[in-house]
Formats: sequence, structure tokens, C-alpha cells
Amino acid sequence: MELPSKLVENAVNEMAQLPGIGKRTALRLVLHLLKQPLEQTEGLTNALATMRKDIQFCQTCHTISDAEICGICANPSRDKAIICVVEDVRDVMALENTGMFKGVYHVLGGKISPIEGIGPSQLKITSLVEKAKLGVITEIIFALSSTMEGDTTNFYIYKQIKDLAIKTSTIARGIAVGDELEYADEVTLGRSLLNRIPFETSIRQ
Ligand SMILES: [Zn+2]
Repeated sequence: MELPSKLVENAVNEMAQLPGIGKRTALRLVLHLLKQPLEQTEGLTNALATMRKDIQFCQTCHTISDAEICGICANPSRDKAIICVVEDVRDVMALENTGMFKGVYHVLGGKISPIEGIGPSQLKITSLVEKAKLGVITEIIFALSSTMEGDTTNFYIYKQIKDLAIKTSTIARGIAVGDELEYADEVTLGRSLLNRIPFETSIRQ
């Protein structure tokens, strides 16, 4: 794409690095910004830079947070004995939208995926196992998507906690195999959380 301005070209190239944004879309967005007051672009870039610089990850559950401890972990009415294991913050949002879960979360930050070069050490698995060993947790609910990577990750964690006095369960799959949690509707997701099944049952199927 030949552009008459190096400045515009730089902006387009930066924006086109974002997922789902090709050069054409990037150019459309850049030209849109050029038509708006300067303050709008400044607002956008400031919000992005501040977010990137100041964002924290909850020291307890590792979800995205504005403070050391996230709002869910800090909420005294949440049951800290029940932990729902999810892949990322989008899953937390999806499950929170159901309004059905009163426990807390543990955000792994991904799934074990040899193809993508993601091993257990790159995920927040050790801190989960350590938490489990403290003897406060009564139930761990696996809520990763039921892909091969999700199943591998569940089983890897399960092996490390199965001898502890902790109930392990997995959310019932009214959700089709391979569906990501964030795309499931709230009612289906809420129901599958309530109808969760013992993890041992799920691996025998
Ligand atoms: Zn938290």
C-alpha cells in the first residue's frame, strides 16, 4: 500500500499489528482519526498507554485488576473455598454474567499447547496447586473449553491435586465441544455450571 505520508504509514502499520485489523481497516481508522479533533486521538493513546502501564494482575487469582487484589477476591461475600479454573479474563466475565457463581476464580493465562509451544510452566498452575495444598479449598471446578488443549490442562492439574481432600468437577457440557466459554449464552453457561459433574466422570467418558 503506497501512502503519501510516512506519518500515516507508521500509524497504519502499528494499528495493523492488532488481531483482526488488516491494512485497509487500519487506514480507514487512521483517516477517521484525522477527521476528528486532536483531543480524541490523545484520549485514545493516553487511555491505551495508561492501561498498559498501570494494569495489574490480581495476586490471588491472576485476573486483570486495577489493584493488587481484584474486586472478586476482595469481596467478603464470595466463597473462597470454591475455585473455578479458567483460561483468561474473558471466561471470568462470561461466568460472572451468569450471576450463578459465588466462589472465586483462578486464571491460568492460557492452556497447555505443545503446538503453540505453551508448557505448564508458562501458566499459573503452580500457584493453584500451592493454594490447593493450604487446605482451605473444598472444590475446584474446571471450566476450560473442552478442546484437546483444555482437556490436557485439566488433567495435568487434576493429577497434582487428586490426592488432596478437594472435590474436583467440570462444568457440564450443554456447550458443544470446542465452544469457547465466552460465546456460550448466559443461561446455557449458568446451567452447565450448576449441573457440573465430578471430574473423574468426565475423563472416563
Ligand atoms: Zn482475584
